[in-house]
Amino acid sequence: VIEKRELVSLLRGATNLQAADCVGDALFLRAANTRSRAYGDAIYLRALIELSNFCRRRCAYCGIGAFNRDLGRYRIQEAALLAASKEAAACGYRTVVLQAGEDPELVGKAGSRLVASWIRRIKETGIARVTLSLGAPDGDALSRWRDAGADRYLMRFETSNPALYGALHPGDSLRARLRDIERLQTLGYEVGSGMLVGLPGQRIEDVANDVLLCRDLDLDMIGIGPYLPHPAAPLSSKSVPKEVSGSELIYRVIAATRLLCPRANIPATTALETRDRTAASSSGDRARPSVDAAGQLRALRCGANVIMINFSPQSVRRLYALYPNKATDLAGSEATIALENRTAAAGYRAAVDHVGDALRPQVDAR
Ligand code: SF4
Repeated sequence: VIEKRELVSLLRGATNLQAADCVGDALFLRAANTRSRAYGDAIYLRALIELSNFCRRRCAYCGIGAFNRDLGRYRIQEAALLAASKEAAACGYRTVVLQAGEDPELVGKAGSRLVASWIRRIKETGIARVTLSLGAPDGDALSRWRDAGADRYLMRFETSNPALYGALHPGDSLRARLRDIERLQTLGYEVGSGMLVGLPGQRIEDVANDVLLCRDLDLDMIGIGPYLPHPAAPLSSKSVPKEVSGSELIYRVIAATRLLCPRANIPATTALETRDRTAASSSGDRARPSVDAAGQLRALRCGANVIMINFSPQSVRRLYALYPNKATDLAGSEATIALENRTAAAGYRAAVDHVGDALRPQVDAR
């Protein structure tokens, strides 16, 4: 059992360490062992399809919030969605993740019926599990989508600090978000949530509380992303406190989360890959992201076990810009093959055709 004080000191250790110092670090080794006891050498792959970048919310950190009037907006057509789903199935994928901003045309009453019909049609393409990440919809959409065959839902709480949550999410509260997460669990979804690390206004104790909240919610999936300032987002002008700004902290958070939540699926996020790639290219060290010292492969070594591959139509990929410089060069089958090679070289097996359900019962973290 890891208590809050120990957790804070584990996380604090990260801010002073360089990547090379962490290779033999006990925290990372322990997390990697816990990961392999639960999942062996398998990395679960999910096909990600970004349905729409319309959003009615104004989250202060996000590049596609309603305040961004300069962004070209799109909503996918059904034919393009089914084509992307079929392409994923042909590559062997069993799970698709449908992601969008909180688009009124999808989360309102009429839109939720349309999404329900999409879920049914996607399952007819040979996809076994449909994950939704569409925000907090109106009315009974969550139960309608569950009845239509949706299996999983991702709804991040982003921060467990109620005041910070309120400041980042105008018109919303942490309490309401946690109520929605509980409702998802009651409806029988596999539920994913998670947080941003390195936010303006965040303290290391907040990050520790985020990890503890993930444990207390008994989540099936936990997404842990670095805060990447988007120039069009209101938060971009605010500075990040030193104690949460170190580039190593997020790896500590992933490892600690793996120890506290041994059975959860934990993605190695694209945002992390983007952050480390951007850091490497701005320092002139272009080779860095391709070795396992950074980005997604490093996250796998720290306890992550899932990677999402983008299957969104090429024409819209760059428009789904939650954060800047998102890597959109490789996608679909090309990205799958590249990832299989990368992970194999690092000693993992990309289990494309695994449905990748969260484990039950609990796996011990020792
Ligand atoms: S984080 Fe999600 S809900 Fe918030 S503005 Fe961005 S897309 Fe919309």
